[in-house]
Amino acid sequence: MTPRPIYLDHHATTPVDRRVADVVYAVMTERFGNANSVDHRYGEEAARIIDGARQEVAALVGAQASDVRFTSGSTEAIRLALAYAAEASGGAVRVALSRIEHDAVLDAVATAHLQGWAEASWMKIDGEGRVPLAAIAEALETGADLVCLMAANNEVGTVQDVRGAAVLTAGAGARLLVDATQAAGRIALDMTAWGVDYLALSAHKMYGPKGIGALVGSDLAEAALPARHAGHAATPNTPAIAGLGEACRLRRLEMTADEPRIGALRDRLQAYLLAGVPGLAVNGDMAGRLCNNLHVSAPRAPNDLVVLELRDRVAISTGAACASGADAPSHVLRAMGLAPWRLDGALRISLGTSTTQEEIDRAGAAIIEAIRAAQALAED
Ligand code: PLP
Repeated sequence: MTPRPIYLDHHATTPVDRRVADVVYAVMTERFGNANSVDHRYGEEAARIIDGARQEVAALVGAQASDVRFTSGSTEAIRLALAYAAEASGGAVRVALSRIEHDAVLDAVATAHLQGWAEASWMKIDGEGRVPLAAIAEALETGADLVCLMAANNEVGTVQDVRGAAVLTAGAGARLLVDATQAAGRIALDMTAWGVDYLALSAHKMYGPKGIGALVGSDLAEAALPARHAGHAATPNTPAIAGLGEACRLRRLEMTADEPRIGALRDRLQAYLLAGVPGLAVNGDMAGRLCNNLHVSAPRAPNDLVVLELRDRVAISTGAACASGADAPSHVLRAMGLAPWRLDGALRISLGTSTTQEEIDRAGAAIIEAIRAAQALAED
């Protein structure tokens, strides 16, 4: 059997940690009760598992267990947060956001706008993908009642000043929604201490199963759903919820050791690529990006050709998972104002806990080779 390509696309999704998979399997096969059916031990057991997971999610992001509401992932959590924020603002919400947000946020706001219950205003960003605090202050001065700020970008990895944003939003009597899909389990987050109102996360970005995530915010677990989302409470997906809980527990215990190690591998690969590809540009905030992120632009090397060349050897991406394959230049890089060649030659490389130095060295050589091949093809 041919070996599988080296996996360097952890921003798209992460492999499930074996220990998480074991928990999911055990709950699925042995603790299969319906958590809504607590007339007997099976249901009680499932309800207890869910409570335990709620505590683990809360502990990872500095919240209370009663703040955690499970969702099918970040996309649903973001939509739900918008609905809560609209209700809190009397039925409609003035949202301030930037154009580097994930489509999950951009689409949710656009849909709410079309339905007549959200107005958007745009905060400027700088060339490294940061939303300056001054831009947030300006949006608040002009009447925003919800600020959307992703904790870390899914393409260039830039980490935002969430704590500073929370101080500003609280001071203005507004709310802050943090899309922590890429940041949760990679950097420290302390919602309660910082004053973050809503935070969205997804298990599959932190070595957990797909299709499960959470919206975290003050007392959301007990709060009634906003009218737009109200209805019958479905049977909870206990195995997936248990998997999310275990993934959060492991990240909380292990990320402070894992992330610097991953960062050192990223730096090694970055140095290797810079030495092997004249003119290579590194995108994002070099002083404040996720440890597992390396986003580069290779001159005169169309990124779809590079990724195609690498297909059997290294799995990397041209952009966000939803955008790749669509041939459209990344909305994030465009919003950062990067030169056209940097959009055309953009490669997103993202490492994970199982990435080894041997893989990085092999991947580095293969990526350089693929870039050279793409440059030669593009010249013809
Ligand atoms: N937000 C960010 C920053 C993401 O990277 C993603 C997924 O790629 C999402 C939101 C949506 O997450 P999910 O597909 O798990 O709902």
